[in-house]
Amino acid sequence: MKIKVYKFGGASVKDAKNIKNISNILQIYGNNNNILIVISAIDKTTNALEEVVKKYFLKKNIDYDLNKIKEKHFNINNDLFPNGHNIYYYINNLFFNIKQFFKENKSTNYNFVYDQIVSFGELISTKIISEYFNLIGIKNIWIDVRKYIITDSSYGEAKINWQKTFKYITILNSKKNILYITQGFIGGSDSNYTTTLGREGSDYTASIFSYCLNAESQTIWKDVPGILNADPRYFTNVSLLNKISYEEAIKLAYYGATVIHPKTLEPLLKKDIPLYIRSFINHEKTGTLVSNFTYLIKPSLPCYIVKNNQILLTFFKKKYYSFFSEQDISNILKYIAKYFLKIGLLHNSVVDLNICINDTYHINDIIKKLSLKYKIQILEKVSLYTVYHYTNNNCLEEFVKNKIIILSKITLETAQYIIKD
Ligand code: ASP
Ligand code: MG
Repeated sequence: MKIKVYKFGGASVKDAKNIKNISNILQIYGNNNNILIVISAIDKTTNALEEVVKKYFLKKNIDYDLNKIKEKHFNINNDLFPNGHNIYYYINNLFFNIKQFFKENKSTNYNFVYDQIVSFGELISTKIISEYFNLIGIKNIWIDVRKYIITDSSYGEAKINWQKTFKYITILNSKKNILYITQGFIGGSDSNYTTTLGREGSDYTASIFSYCLNAESQTIWKDVPGILNADPRYFTNVSLLNKISYEEAIKLAYYGATVIHPKTLEPLLKKDIPLYIRSFINHEKTGTLVSNFTYLIKPSLPCYIVKNNQILLTFFKKKYYSFFSEQDISNILKYIAKYFLKIGLLHNSVVDLNICINDTYHINDIIKKLSLKYKIQILEKVSLYTVYHYTNNNCLEEFVKNKIIILSKITLETAQYIIKD
């Protein structure tokens, strides 16, 4: 029997109640099955650990923040485990390791330190869930993903060494009727350091396992019913896309539909592994099936995507109204690529280059370096609005009604707008 891969994100394990809920899902759907479960850090732990790393580099005190993170996990443990359970010892130990790392660390490489620390979110969450499952009789094996997903050393966005990863993961196929539990988002480098695969990377982790294990299917359990044609946080009339092709899903993810991580689909597509996006709340519903429908089904509905927290950088030559050459564009893109920033929209003219990207920690570095050569106009707090498969102008007008449009780009299939928040 082929293995199934399940992925549970931070929201699905955000508290004791939700962890109990996923144990329930396993009891219903996981009976006598080969399953490998990939789990993210609990709730917003990754953000909290990110803050710790930032503070560390600013030479601020981090004890308070670390204790808060520990307390949150201990509160969950208190609801799941009896007093004196080993879990308290395990989790204490992991926090001890964090402190020890900081004490001994000499590296000034932000991304390296980031990966060593932020990865604890997943190490902790999977330990708690694995131990809880054992406690209630769901037998499982906790595996350290760093021994299976092998990467290079591009900390913060490590690249997979597919040859080694494939070799190690396929060993898992030799055992049958086993439930494996492992960490999303993280990997191990050849030099035995922890790496991360990029924010929200746990979906991608699941796909790497699915690919290497030739999984029967992959299911991402979410707090939404599946892939919707618009984000329910911003829109009232949303519809579920029951079936879509890999290609459509890739585009939606790229434009910023947060329901799946852009890198998730490629490994699945290569092996034709169906992907289900289902609700962990209404788990009896079928959700969305993403599969090889390329020429059959397209979302018949326009899809509306809003990507917040963007920054618009406009580059000019320092000399007033000098031409902006291909060489200039290439210089700038090289920098963006070096920091692994994702461009949401790019637009050039004869005198300037506009780039809309995620506003992250590295932007300041980029601006500092590139402003030696270029004049840069910076517009913070913008959002990227995308309508994919727009059907008529009405739906576009409605989408950006009463909004301040800074820039727009409309192709036959897609309309994109940079909007001032
Ligand atoms: N915990 C990581 C993050 O929040 C990975 C994930 O959730 O997929 O980015
Ligand atoms: Mg997460």
